[in-house]
Amino acid sequence: MIFDRFRLNGQVALVTGGTRGIGLAIAEALGEAGAKVVIAGRTRNEAAEERLSKAGVDFEFIAADLAKERAADELVAETLSRAGRLDILVNNAGIAIHGDSGEFSDAIWREIMTVNVDAVFRACRAALAPMRRQGGGVILNIGSMSGIVSNIPQNQVAYNTSKAAVHMMTKSLASEVAAENIRVNAIAPGYIETDLSRGGIDNPDWFPTWRSMTPMGRVGQPEEVAGAALFLCSAAASYVTGEVLVIDGGYTTR
Ligand code: NAP
Repeated sequence: MIFDRFRLNGQVALVTGGTRGIGLAIAEALGEAGAKVVIAGRTRNEAAEERLSKAGVDFEFIAADLAKERAADELVAETLSRAGRLDILVNNAGIAIHGDSGEFSDAIWREIMTVNVDAVFRACRAALAPMRRQGGGVILNIGSMSGIVSNIPQNQVAYNTSKAAVHMMTKSLASEVAAENIRVNAIAPGYIETDLSRGGIDNPDWFPTWRSMTPMGRVGQPEEVAGAALFLCSAAASYVTGEVLVIDGGYTTR
């Protein structure tokens, strides 16, 4: 049965930023498919935990601030100590800070690169040893359409650069570890309605442009990313690696 290939029974998934937005929807989808899910973020979110419980998801929360140098390694180690294995790593946590390049500070540039790029690589690196021991695994990185096109009207050079780095990290790592039965893919979402995009959706100087540049004429919902995440994390995608799957309502077609 083709549906069986989407099942994740017996597997352990770590979803960074799994406490809200896209990460929470992905955690729910992986959990509904049968995985034990570890959600990580700086702050516990009781509403999210209630939602996962209601959905019957077996989950744990681990606090982690991925802006800290050792956090990704510690998070993977803690996941292994609590769950005993790591089959799926979803590097979803990310931050977006806008600003004109002429006035962009080193500190903000570094903050974005630390969370969006450095922590993603550190988590990938830490996941390789357990995945190799187990005979394989799956890594899914959340990039962005902003790593492909320079979306407007907001200026966000650091964010866009960080997401392009995530896409290239995904392809490079996929090529490096493919023979070890470890698949590495990315999803590049367009505008998805979450806390991260809320400021832009509510901004009358930005949102009309966002909407008019999106052929489908609307923002997406986190659940519209989660199905693709489940596909890429499951055996249904067993021959897919190094892919950056764009989910953007058609934005990048133009
Ligand atoms: P969100 O609603 O702001 O959620 C971000 C998640 O990341 C939260 O769980 C947050 O938890 C966690 N996080 C943030 N900083 C962290 C840190 N320093 N350490 C650990 N966890 C941290 O964002 P989202 O829209 O769901 O975005 C998820 C991913 O999709 C990001 O990589 C984003 O760049 C990407 N994306 C989003 C959109 C969009 O339109 N929403 C479009 C393209 C790509 P805490 O705050 O508790 O730490």
